[in-house]
Amino acid sequence: MAETFDVSGHCLCGAVSYTAKAATHDVSVCHCGMCRRWTGGPLMYFDVEGAPSFTGRDEIGVYRSSDTGERGFCKRCGSVLFWKVAGEERYTFTAGSLDTPSGLALTKEIFIEDKPAFYDFANPTEKLRGSDAMSAYTGDELK
Ligand SMILES: [Zn+2]
Ligand SMILES: [Zn+2]
Repeated sequence: MAETFDVSGHCLCGAVSYTAKAATHDVSVCHCGMCRRWTGGPLMYFDVEGAPSFTGRDEIGVYRSSDTGERGFCKRCGSVLFWKVAGEERYTFTAGSLDTPSGLALTKEIFIEDKPAFYDFANPTEKLRGSDAMSAYTGDELK
């Protein structure tokens, strides 16, 4: 098992903050249409281990965007905070919500087939189709 380290972050207005354990410094990008509409651009996120702890939990809105996923945001300021596997304590947090976004590396792009043509990332990354990326979270393929 990789050693974990503490990460923390908060929303724009500060009503919601979190701490969690991360196992890697890897940041991924999701190019899917749902993330694009939710964030206004590609979603940059990182995986955490186990359940995070929140302050301001009452201010968190959760939107069930598919059979598989739920998206958490601050109800006051609208900041997008996490995507999680529905019904499980399996979270990813937005890289932009981190208190200290240092020491990170962009290593993976998912839903590469949905990436709009108007941008490309120059970082050398592993590029995965959506179905392959999601099976890592759910153990089976999305429809
Ligand atoms: Zn907020
Ligand atoms: Zn996405």
